Amino acid sequence: MKGMKQMDLASIIRNVPNFPKAGIQFKDITTLLKNKDAFHQVVDSLFHLFDGQHVDIVVGIEARGFILGSAVAYLLNSGFVPVRKKGKLPAAVRSKTYDLEYGNATLEMHVDAIEKNQKVVIIDDLLATGGTIQAVCEMVEEAGGEIIGIAFLIELESLQGRKAIQKYPVYSLIKLD
Ligand code: AMP
Repeated sequence: MKGMKQMDLASIIRNVPNFPKAGIQFKDITTLLKNKDAFHQVVDSLFHLFDGQHVDIVVGIEARGFILGSAVAYLLNSGFVPVRKKGKLPAAVRSKTYDLEYGNATLEMHVDAIEKNQKVVIIDDLLATGGTIQAVCEMVEEAGGEIIGIAFLIELESLQGRKAIQKYPVYSLIKLD
């Protein structure tokens, strides 16, 4: 959006204490998404990180990664691949189980979603400990995809999730504690 004033995105993300459980400061991006100027700015900024590079596939992680990732895929003229929670994808999947603070979670991707040597960008709303993105990177590489970058709307820097994905170019638009 040429000439448009840049918005302070961090100020319109809603912090919800103790959701979904005690001690978590949940970063609610619905307050950003419903603001047309903010949504436009976020999608444009994510797009510009990769504009001019060849990107075959944007991978979005359920659920908020779908909202941002599909818009960015459209602008990059790339395909979009969803990574979903266990049991949602209908055809044959590869899956990855990873540790959460309490218990674990399983993510899945269709086995035919990414072809060997395709150039892949991964997008999610938020980087916390990095467990989620690490699992997704492993799945993409097992499929033969080449990860050319990873982008988040928000990075919770104190959790040092970047350490899990040091070997890739990692971008975040908003850095919080
Ligand atoms: P992690 O695997 O710890 O990096 O967590 C990242 C995933 O969990 C992302 O898909 C986020 O949407 C979600 N997430 C983790 N912590 C938060 C938080 N404080 N607020 C909102 N979403 C979160």
